[in-house]
Formats: sequence, C-alpha cells, structure tokens
Amino acid sequence: MVDATEATAVALGYVMDAKTTKDPKRAVGAACANCALFAGKPGDAAGPCPLFPGKQVAAAGWCTVYQKRA
Ligand code: SF4
Repeated sequence: MVDATEATAVALGYVMDAKTTKDPKRAVGAACANCALFAGKPGDAAGPCPLFPGKQVAAAGWCTVYQKRA
C-alpha cells in the first residue's frame, strides 16, 4: 500500500481518504475507485495505479492526477 508520506505521494497530493484532502481540485465523490487510472476491481479496498508502480492505492484515496472514469 502506498504511504501518503512517501515522496511521490506527497508530490501528487495523494491521500488515503479522499475526504481528507484540502485540495480544492477534488470534486465531491472523486476517489481512486472511480478514477480512470485505478486498476483494481470494483469493490476492492485497494488496487494498482500506474503512478505508483508495484504498489497499491486505497480505493477511498485520491490524488491531483485524478481523472474521472468514463
Ligand atoms: S491517479 Fe487515480 S487511482 Fe492513481 S492515485 Fe491518483 S486518483 Fe488514485
């Protein structure tokens, strides 16, 4: 699991709980689970994200690269 304090996570503004971000760019409801880059299965608590090779991000997480899944 990605640690929100690691350098890449800090650089990307990643948080393990999307609701805790102070970033105004986050739209209500946006989270890794519904991000186009999230490679986990629906319902998974965590899954891979290409921004963090070899690690998992929390489904409830969020970062500034978030892109709404089509
Ligand atoms: S790119 Fe998407 S899935 Fe990856 S950490 Fe950011 S919000 Fe989560």
